[in-house]
Amino acid sequence: MSTCSTGGCHTPYSKKRYITYGIITVLSLVEPFLQIGGKHFFLLSFDKKQLHLLFTVFDMQELYLMPFLLILLFLSIFFMTTLGGRVWCGWSCPQTIFRVVYRDLIETKLLGIRKNIKNKQKPSKNGFKKVLAVLIWSVLAFLAASNMSWYFVPPSDFFTYMQDPLNHKVLLGFLIVVTGFLIYDIILLKEDFCIYVCPYARVQSVMFDNDTIQTIYNEDRGGKIYDEHHGLINTKPTGETDECTGCEACVRICPTHIDIRKGMQLECINCLECADACTKVMGKLGKESLITWASSNAVQTKSKTKFLRFRTVAYGIALSIALVALFLMGATKEYMLLNINRTAELYKIDKDGKNIENAYIFLFQNTDSKDHKYYFEVKHEGIAIKKPTKPFTLRAGSKMKKVVILSANKNLSKHPQEDTILDIDIEAFALDNKEKIIVDRETTFVYPSPATIKKRLNK
Ligand code: SF4
Ligand code: SF4
Repeated sequence: MSTCSTGGCHTPYSKKRYITYGIITVLSLVEPFLQIGGKHFFLLSFDKKQLHLLFTVFDMQELYLMPFLLILLFLSIFFMTTLGGRVWCGWSCPQTIFRVVYRDLIETKLLGIRKNIKNKQKPSKNGFKKVLAVLIWSVLAFLAASNMSWYFVPPSDFFTYMQDPLNHKVLLGFLIVVTGFLIYDIILLKEDFCIYVCPYARVQSVMFDNDTIQTIYNEDRGGKIYDEHHGLINTKPTGETDECTGCEACVRICPTHIDIRKGMQLECINCLECADACTKVMGKLGKESLITWASSNAVQTKSKTKFLRFRTVAYGIALSIALVALFLMGATKEYMLLNINRTAELYKIDKDGKNIENAYIFLFQNTDSKDHKYYFEVKHEGIAIKKPTKPFTLRAGSKMKKVVILSANKNLSKHPQEDTILDIDIEAFALDNKEKIIVDRETTFVYPSPATIKKRLNK
């Protein structure tokens, strides 16, 4: 329900957060099922040694994309924190969403073992209903752990594996550990996770500046409650114009048990519950909330929060560059891989010294999702393929080693006394889709010196 004051009507932040939580939950549950022709939107399969990204499959040998993904992740965190402070913590973090589900939905609304959603300080009552709350959360924790595993094991495989869990002990162990942790974390550790365990909480404050948006108590309007050393002066300010009523609705509702009137604190997860509480209290007096979501500069100068500034623009540009680089790298994906190794023998000279052979081991890998017939060509005059003589089929995702013999039937020697090392190009391709599935590799062909050929013939 909206609260109205002289500054207009405000939809509670909690309502907007619940809608955001709903969208995030639905997206998280649906995303693992999004696939086109067996290629997922995102999947990091250790099982099949593949990364699926934007419906393209990358083999583990192609993980040059990983650094770009990590750079993108860190830049996004820097950008988001500089711009919106701990917006992630209050609006998107699974820890916060799970706590709201357990504390506010299951314990308070569903079972009534917490008196009021507006008082998060009082612990819930113990008894049969508490056991029921733990059981309901345990089922949801298992669902959350399963959902998490679908980003590493596709749901179709997951349901097959779960029919025979003892033969898939790694997956089973993962589910037990994550479910157990979520039960302990959400029921016992609670917001202490955000305050003492989460590394992001420790580092985020260094990314803040005076224009970073955060939860702020307007001390100029409300009055001083704490001195500069964070010592309590009075729970209700005494100045004639001080607007804070000292009702402490903002303190009672705070899930991390802090008083935002003390100023910015590491424990604040930016959930804005206190802002909603104060909006209600001040709304009844026809005034605007004393706690707002704004930057400290905006509050002090009574202006709008400045979103466009050097740091945010710089992070925005860096983020865009990393995104473009990721797309460009993704577009250069090879649908087949080829590694070429020479065998230990340098060359073989035939009886009349006119045919020279070099042997290689070619390792082909089909990284496409379909079976293909492959062959290759040698890009060098006078050198031909002796073996294999025919194209061969490789199943989707499989590898194959091939012994390859190249032969030179004309004199390619460039030195009378020394062997000649020739650079040659190998072009390998899928016969049914040469436009898309084609790779170039360089290797060498060793042609013996005329002196060596003569010596061998005279033996
Ligand atoms: S002070 Fe408490 S209630 Fe207010 S935003 Fe921070 S964590 Fe939430
Ligand atoms: S809810 Fe508002 S009026 Fe009440 S104590 Fe907090 S800041 Fe003061």
